[in-house]
Amino acid sequence: MIITSHSSNPFPDNVDQMFTHCRMATMAKGNYGIMKNAALAVSGKKISWIGPMDALPETLGTIKVTDCRNQWILPGFVDCHTHLIWAGSRADEFEMRLAGASYADIARAGGGIFSTVTATRAADEDMLFDLASRRMARFLRQGITTVEIKSGYGLDLDTELKMLAVAGRLQKACPQDVSTTFLGAHALPPKFAGRSDDYIKEVVRIMLPEVKDQGIATAVDVFCENIAFSRDQTRQVFEKALALGFAIKLHAEQLSDSNGTALAAQMGALSCDHLEYLSLDGARKMADHGTVAVLLPGAFYYLRETRIPPVEYFRNLRIPMAVATDLNPGSSPVFGMMPVLNMACLLFGLTCEEALAGATINGARALNLADCKGSLEPGKDADFVIWDVDTPADLCYLTGITPLQNVVIGGKTAYVMA
Ligand SMILES: [Zn+2]
Repeated sequence: MIITSHSSNPFPDNVDQMFTHCRMATMAKGNYGIMKNAALAVSGKKISWIGPMDALPETLGTIKVTDCRNQWILPGFVDCHTHLIWAGSRADEFEMRLAGASYADIARAGGGIFSTVTATRAADEDMLFDLASRRMARFLRQGITTVEIKSGYGLDLDTELKMLAVAGRLQKACPQDVSTTFLGAHALPPKFAGRSDDYIKEVVRIMLPEVKDQGIATAVDVFCENIAFSRDQTRQVFEKALALGFAIKLHAEQLSDSNGTALAAQMGALSCDHLEYLSLDGARKMADHGTVAVLLPGAFYYLRETRIPPVEYFRNLRIPMAVATDLNPGSSPVFGMMPVLNMACLLFGLTCEEALAGATINGARALNLADCKGSLEPGKDADFVIWDVDTPADLCYLTGITPLQNVVIGGKTAYVMA
């Protein structure tokens, strides 16, 4: 571990609260950035100072002080890829698969993504909000302070808009920050069977302009895969999305190499996600265009995949790696970041430092939020978690517990372990 010595900036005069006697992994620049016997000051919603205890002023006056008793502070987790809004359950499919059923068997029995689409279409907005806000509460208790949420279980205009409206309500009602993505091109709705170009036309001509008019998403995602949409269809969606001013991102190279990554990177995508089948050429395009690689080991694990993403390419080409839960009811019912960190290390071979950078600063980069989220640095949002662990690596190493003490979001205590 490298211990970073931070030059002590002058102590600001507008500090509201202090967190003292802590150890910190700032995750600035994607490294642990460890500081011991340190303190962190918050002014309003922002971190305003970080430094050693012995650089504190002699008296802190009326500043509220929390003594961290040598516990660790890390940035709050930034979960940059979720499908958190849905209705229904797919646990029965899990049992069917364990009993030997194939995907075709499950689809014939009315299962798969379309069972989620049917249940999500049938649920009213309040019911979806109720289900999703409980998931957000679970995420909070796991130290996740920023959440990306995709639509994509409607596959018709009304339900897609309903899902995005729920995401907007979550942003207002929950302490976490929410980043909302339109994923109308997630799967081909049965009504359009054999006519995928017609569905893409509907996404481009009707859905995207309406989502833009309502101002309820900032990014547009597509599932580019042989079971979903082609590279050419992806390009059509992205061209319209960019013309309307959306950021773009892609589900790419999960089950085969469609070379969607190269297209997305060249069009300026924030991230390409999954990437098990990524080619060296695709990785080079990501490096050339600053695209973040979002790794989703939960889906890899639940689908019992065997091909892992080319982590060596990402390291050699200095492509930032993020990790995310991919929370969804079909392939990744994973409600916390610690299991994902563990899987990223054990299944994909990330170091603990890489995995933690993936769940913090690189997750923020994947959402274009790295100027305000993902690391402990003066000027950034005061989003952090106090952990009762011996070392940051414990967050990757331990399973079955979440040794969290406090979650602070925007300078406010959002959760305290009972
Ligand atoms: Zn996904």
